[in-house]
Parts: sequence; C-alpha cells; structure tokens
Amino acid sequence: MKERHLQGIGISPGVAVGKAFLLKASKPMVWMHRIPTELLDEEVARFLAAVAATRQDLLHLKEEIGKELGTEHAYIFDAHLLMLEDPILVQGVEDKIRKERVNAEFALQQVISELSRTFRAFEDTYLRERTVDVLDVGNRVQVNLCRPADQFEELPAEPSVLVAHELAPSLLAAIDSSLLLGIAMDVGGQTTHTGLLARSKSVPAVVGLRDLSAHIKEGSTIIVDGNEGLVITDPNKKTVERYTELRRLYKQRDEELQKTRDLAVITTDDFEIALYANIEMPEEWPDAFKHGAKGVGLYRSEFVFLNSPKLLPTEDEHEAIYRKLAEAAGDYFVNVRTLDLGGEKGLESLGIEEEPNPALGLRAIRYSLSEPALFKTQMRGILRASAVGNLRVMVPMISGITEFRQARELLEKCKKELKAEGIPFKKDIQLGAMIEVPSAALTADILAAEADFVTVGTNDLIQYILAIDRSNVAVAYLYEPFHPAVLRVLDEIANRVHSVGENVGMCGEMAADPFAAPLLVGMGYDELSMNAVSIPIIKNWIRTLSAKLCRELVNKALKASTAEEVRELVTDTCEKNYPSLFRCNLDT
Ligand code: PEP
Ligand code: MG
Repeated sequence: MKERHLQGIGISPGVAVGKAFLLKASKPMVWMHRIPTELLDEEVARFLAAVAATRQDLLHLKEEIGKELGTEHAYIFDAHLLMLEDPILVQGVEDKIRKERVNAEFALQQVISELSRTFRAFEDTYLRERTVDVLDVGNRVQVNLCRPADQFEELPAEPSVLVAHELAPSLLAAIDSSLLLGIAMDVGGQTTHTGLLARSKSVPAVVGLRDLSAHIKEGSTIIVDGNEGLVITDPNKKTVERYTELRRLYKQRDEELQKTRDLAVITTDDFEIALYANIEMPEEWPDAFKHGAKGVGLYRSEFVFLNSPKLLPTEDEHEAIYRKLAEAAGDYFVNVRTLDLGGEKGLESLGIEEEPNPALGLRAIRYSLSEPALFKTQMRGILRASAVGNLRVMVPMISGITEFRQARELLEKCKKELKAEGIPFKKDIQLGAMIEVPSAALTADILAAEADFVTVGTNDLIQYILAIDRSNVAVAYLYEPFHPAVLRVLDEIANRVHSVGENVGMCGEMAADPFAAPLLVGMGYDELSMNAVSIPIIKNWIRTLSAKLCRELVNKALKASTAEEVRELVTDTCEKNYPSLFRCNLDT
C-alpha cells in the first residue's frame, strides 16, 4: 500500500505511531413493531428500566474515570446523566410508545434521531458537536433495551491507534489509557467532548478525516500527528522513523513546558501580557490553572442553556453553575459571557423565528435585549453567584455603545432588585464588551471608555470583516486571520482602546495561534485568552519576543497586500527566533 497523507483537525496534541484498530459501531439493529394497548404500560416500564440501567452504567463510568483521571474529568458524565433526565428524551419516548403504539427501541431511535438532527443543525460549533453526546446516551439506552451484554467487547487487546467514524466520549472513557496510542476520527471538530477527554488522557487525536474509517485496513500502520492535524496511513519505514523521533521530541518539550508554569508572561523588553483561559465548564478550571491561566477570559454560558433539562434555565440553575465557577477559580476572575444564541444558533425553546440571514439577525446581545426577562434571569444568576467570587459579566456581539448602555441599564436594574430583596452580590461587578462586529471595532475607543473591559472575539470579527459565513464550508478557504484587512482592524482596535487609557484583550482562536502572537504583541494586546493547552506555548514564545521588534513586524505587515505576504513575514520571524517551541523540528 502507498503512503497516504490526510489532513484533519488536531484536537489533542502529540504524535502516535502504531497499529490501526478499527472500532466498529456496536449499534444494535432496531425494528418497529406494534404494541397491543394492554401492554403499553409494560413497554414504557421496560424503557424506564433501561434508562435506570444506563444511569447506573454512567455513574459507574463516572466513578472509574474520576479514579483514573481525577474528578475534574468525570463531569462529562454529568452532562450525559442530565440528558437522561431530560423530558424531551424520556417523556418524548414514553409519549411516542403510547401515542404510536410502537416498541421502546423504535420510539427511542426516532426521538434520538430527531434530537441529533436538531443539534446537528446548530450553527454554533459547540452545540453542533453535542450531537455525539446525544447519540452516545441514546445508544447506551438502546443497548440496555436490546441486549444487556457488554457492548465493549471489541476493544483493542494491545496498544493501538483507534480509528472510528465517530467515537463516543463514554466509550473513550471506558478504554484503558495504556491501550490508546492515538485517535483518528472521521467526523468532529475542535470542541467535541471526545477531544476534551483525549486531551486529558494525553492521547494525540485528529478528527474531521471524512472517510478514513471506510478505507483503513485493520492492523495497518498509522501515524497520528495531533499538532499538525495530520494522519498518515501505510507510512514507509523512513516516515515511521521520523515520526518516532518526533514523538520523543514532543514529549521532551512538554516536560520542559510544565516546568515554566510560574514564569511571568513578559517580553524581552518588559512588556507584560496576561494569559487567561477559555473554558466551557467549571470543571475545566483546575486544568487551566495547571497550565498557568491567570483567570477565565471567556466562559461560554451557552452550556447552561443546553444543560438545563427544560432548555430554559431558571435563575437558581444559572446561579448554581456560576457559583461553581466562582468557587473553582478562587481569587482569579471569570468573565461570564451572557447568552450567545439566536439566529440559526437558536434553541427551539427560545422561540426565535427562522431568519433569512441569521448571522446578521437577532443573535447574542440583540436577542438578550429583545427578551429582557430571559436576560435578567441570567444577569440575576450571575450577580447572586458573584457574592462568592470574582465574576465579571461580558456581553457578546455589541455593535455600538447604545446596546452596551441598554445592557448596563438592565444590570443596574437587577442589582437594585437584589438589593431590595436583601440578596448579596458583588456591588462593583464589572461589565465588559466583546468586540466582534466591525462597527464595534471602529468605535472601540467609545466602548472602552464606558465598559469596564473590552475583548476582541476574532472568530466572529473575521467573518464580519471578510463577509464569510464561518459555518459555510464552501467559503472556508477565505477565512483568513492574516488578511491585511483583519490586521488593520485589529491594530485599529488596539490603538483606539489604548487612546482612552484602557487595556485591550482578545479571546478568539487567533489568540492561541503562535504565528499570530508576534503581531498581537506588536499591536500591544494586553490580554490573551485561549484554550488551556496553548497557554504555556504562547507564554514561552512571548518571553523570547521583543515588543519593539514585534511592532516593526506589524508595521511591515500592515503594508502587505496579501495574507500570503503577511504569513511569509511572520513565518520568517517565528522560525528565526524560536523554532522548537511550537513545532519540533525533525531535521535537527
Ligand atoms: C469569537 O467570536 O471570537 C468568540 C470568542 O466567540 P464565539 O466563538 O463563541 O462566537
Ligand atoms: Mg463570537
């Protein structure tokens, strides 16, 4: 067989070289048959017994994973356990059994496929990737319904690289880490739970490989490069040797990076930068802290909405999760970003009409302001939790100061109400604005003068500057953070915010890109927030840079005509100064 290189998305760093173990889906076959009316109660009871058995399985898995990886990683099963309590699932199946007089297996399969269709349709990557969790939970109940036998009979017996079309997080959790060299998956993106688990198990993983599992030969040699998002099938002897050496180099680098956790993030000419973490769940904080995060720059609160059984969380539910965050982070602050749903990111329960152009529609702060009761419920939840820690409120998709003022007004109203009710909260809680819209970028000075802090969300800002739908694969090739227009806007924002004496932050994916770091340092970005794993890499990289030289680089980049020219300039600087930090060099 000829060596084949496949490009995917690296979701867990590191390099694996080993034999491919093809994980075949162990989904039981489901047939539909009618249930006589007098046996419907029995059929529902059979379904509820399978749900109860699944709950026991998940609790057992949670305990096991807690023992193996620490309790902070067992939270994934909390989300699955909550799904099992969700009336949309449980009541939905029961209703179907009774109304359509069908067997439990068939009713469950129908409800799960409706749910996963809803999840898959979300524009928001995080929500879309929860499809795997829905299917995982559904499949577990199905297995308990159909055959109580152990569904994990087909696991590798020796250390292997797991290849799957879709690998459910609970299955990954159940596999002994010592048997897992790497993971390669056909589907998936950056925020799958499978990816989070792979990272916590330190297993290199690449996803988004399309049809790899259909072509791979069981037992053939495969290489997974999680840093580059690359998978090589049937590598020749020389390639195997190169990647075995690369694996050793990365391991060595990781050990070196661990030791630098407490070093200051400072350039060679004393320009200090704060590094924070982007997290999705409170339980991720300890890992972020271990990687040297000095706070949470972005907590995406969509999870609260998603995790609430009725999909519209109550004030108490909001408070409970933010309190957990505040307590976990201790002295460090947490930016709780208010609801960033709406448009085609809408949950059914939000009742948003379909829009012709959702990315430009009623989303994020626009939606929150149009539903003050819902917005206030969230704000009150954050305020109540702020009594026990340093929470800050951050509003997404602000397009001008008027919207920001409306958000401030609602926050003040909530504070007044809580005061009158005698409920404690942090009186001087900060309110910040995300700069994700060109109009906000060009008025960043006005926003920064009134907001308590501002931070740039490049994921959205880039899509709006370049007029590229970030979820549309057909135009994905145009999504270019190094486009001169993007750089000019980012520089403009930094200048405008600094002109009113305030700090400027960034919490989009660009903040974690080592190649972007010299440009962001040169523009004077004061705070960068990113995934935990990237923090020590960016930190050590920044420590080798001179802010003055970075500014000179920015000046040249701002004159460039194309993204390619900018990339050339940046690559030149990066490779000259610090090649081994973020990319181990095979040729040395
Ligand atoms: C962004 O747009 O850069 C951002 C951080 O928000 P999200 O990716 O959640 O839209
Ligand atoms: Mg955004």
